Amino acid sequence: MKQKIVFATNNLYKLKEVSQILGDKIEVLSLKDLHCDVDIPETADTLEGNALLKAQYINKNYGLDAFADDTGLEIEALNNEPGIYSARYAGEGKSDQANMLKVLRKLEGVGNRNARFRTVIALIMDCKTHLFEGVIKGTIIGEKRGEAGFGYDPIFVPEGYDKTFAELGNDIKNDISHRAKAVKELSDFLTAKLHCRI
Ligand code: IMP
Repeated sequence: MKQKIVFATNNLYKLKEVSQILGDKIEVLSLKDLHCDVDIPETADTLEGNALLKAQYINKNYGLDAFADDTGLEIEALNNEPGIYSARYAGEGKSDQANMLKVLRKLEGVGNRNARFRTVIALIMDCKTHLFEGVIKGTIIGEKRGEAGFGYDPIFVPEGYDKTFAELGNDIKNDISHRAKAVKELSDFLTAKLHCRI
């Protein structure tokens, strides 16, 4: 029987992406599968802390191994803002358009456009905590370009490319992204762990 692990997310896009990578080794359950409709509070002041809060909530309340992710856009010239506030940088409305506009305004006339996306995954397995990280460096351009993706994709050009994530499209993005790298780290860890159990 396949081992079960909970991915503490309600985001079906992420669930599909992660299940595709881990699916043949492990059965990935979602919050929906647990009938858990709580919006787990993300009150920590780091990506690591927030990912851990979500994984701990599931582990404590359901007694199951669990992992959770948290991602932020970190812009060098803005002291790594928006960081943990990426989803609601321009206010509680969580509007991608308003968030991008705020970033573009703050960077008006600023020469240093360096930025990175960083994803942290916290895993609680067999009562131990493990952290995994995925980073992609790039630059923030001066205006929005492209239609694909979500969040800050239209203003972020990854290093080594001349198109934004939103212009490159999901296939290329999912190959090179911060989240893909963090999930690969998790997948490698779980594969090694499961091999030891056989
Ligand atoms: P989450 O932790 O994955 O929910 O991400 C928090 C926020 O970071 C999202 O609401 C987006 O604004 C931004 N974000 C996360 N991942 C991406 C991405 O792949 N592209 C663009 N923006 C992202």
